[in-house]
Amino acid sequence: MTNPNGEFNKNSAEKKSVDDICARSLVDGLADNFSSPTDPHSPPIVLSSVWSCEGTGQADALLNGSLDGYVYQRDGHPNAVQFAAACKSLHEAEEVAVTSSGMSAMALAMLSQLKQGDHMVVSDQLYGGSTRLLTDEAARLGITHTLVDMCNLDVVRAAVIPATGLVVVETISNPLVRVVDIPAIADISHNQDALLLVDNTFATPALCKPLTLGADLVLESVSKLMNGHSDVMLGMLAGRTEQWDRVPTALSVWGLASSPLQCWLANRGLSTMHLRIRQCCENAMAAAKYLAQHPRAQNVQYPGLADHQDYEISQSVLANGFGHIVTFQINGGRNAVDQFIGAGSIPFCPSLGDVMTTMSHPCSTSHRSLTAEQLESLGLSQGTIRLSIGTESTEYVVNCIEAALDA
Ligand SMILES: *Cc1c(COP(=O)(O)O)cnc(C)c1O
Repeated sequence: MTNPNGEFNKNSAEKKSVDDICARSLVDGLADNFSSPTDPHSPPIVLSSVWSCEGTGQADALLNGSLDGYVYQRDGHPNAVQFAAACKSLHEAEEVAVTSSGMSAMALAMLSQLKQGDHMVVSDQLYGGSTRLLTDEAARLGITHTLVDMCNLDVVRAAVIPATGLVVVETISNPLVRVVDIPAIADISHNQDALLLVDNTFATPALCKPLTLGADLVLESVSKLMNGHSDVMLGMLAGRTEQWDRVPTALSVWGLASSPLQCWLANRGLSTMHLRIRQCCENAMAAAKYLAQHPRAQNVQYPGLADHQDYEISQSVLANGFGHIVTFQINGGRNAVDQFIGAGSIPFCPSLGDVMTTMSHPCSTSHRSLTAEQLESLGLSQGTIRLSIGTESTEYVVNCIEAALDA
C-alpha cells in the first residue's frame, strides 16, 4: 500500500521474499516508472482491471458516482474515456458508450431503451447480425418487431405504432448502398414517441452525423472504417443525456464493455480516418464509373452515380462523399465470381473499411442465410460482388478491378 505521499511502505518492503516481490511487482516502483517532467506524446495503454482506493469513503464516492474516477475496468477506463471523447466531438453527441463490438453497441441500445412488450420497426436491409439480434433474439425477450423497407416512407409510417420504442435503420445499407432519409424517418418516429437509432458504420461521422439530422441514437462498428486497419473489434453508441439513464448500468451488467488495448488501437486508427475516407470516396467514385461502362459488370450500385435510386437523398444525408462501398453484378454468376477472386488482385475478405481495397460475396457470406426468393427480392444474385474500396492510388484501384474482371 502507498502512504499519503504515494511511496511504498519501507518496512514491509525490507521483509519481502521472492513471492512477495513477484506478487507486488506491478505496484512497487510504479511512481518511478512514470515520473518524468515531460508527457508521453502517445497515450499510455492502461490495462489495469482495477484501481486501488485510498479509503472506504473514496470507494463509496467513486461507486455512487459523486466522484469521477476509475474503480473497475468494466465500469470505465482511461483508454475508453479518451476514445469516447473523440467520438462525442465527431458525432456532436452529449454521451458516448464504447462497447466491445458493433454488435454489443446494438445490444446496448436495445437493452437500455426497451423492455418486454415493446415493439421495434427494423429496416429489412440491416447487417445480418443486427437482423438476427433484433428479430429472433429480441423475440425471446418479448420484444416484437416489424421489418420494413426504410426507403418507402409510407410503409414506415404505417409500421410505427404507439408501442414502438425504437426505429432502427442504417445510413447506407449493405450491400446495395441504399441511403435513407434520416430527417423524414426521425419525424415519423417522433410522432409516435419512438426513438430513431441509426447504424452509421458505412458512413462514419466523416460523411454523416445522424444526431444532427434528428436521430436520437447512433452506433458505429468501430471495427470497420473508423479504425480502418482490420485489427480491432470495437463499437460505440452515442446519444443525448435524456436517453442515457439506463446506458451505464446496461453496459456494465450485460458485460458489453470495451478493452483498453482495443480502444488504444482504435484511437490510433481514428487519427487518420479523415484522410482515409477522403481517398476511399474519391477512389470509389472512380471505380463505380469504371464499372458502369464495363461490359462484364451489370447493375452497378453507388450513391454517387446519378442513376442510383437514392442519389437525391444522398446529397442531403451524406456530406463530403458517397462512401467506399461499390456493389455490382458480374456476368457469369458464381463461377465468374471465383475467377474474379482467383485473379488475386483484390483480397476476398468478408468485412469492409480496410486501408486496402477488399471484396466480399454477399451470397456466400453476409447474406448466406437468406432464401433464393429473399435474395432475389433484395436484388442480389450469385454474381453480386461488394467492393470495399481502399486508399491506394485511384489508378491502382481501377487497374486491380480491370485485372480481376479480365481473369
Ligand atoms: C460489422 C457491422 C456491424 C457489427 O459490428 P462488429 O464490430 O462486427 O460487431 C454492425 N453493423 C454494420 C453495418 C456492420 O457492418
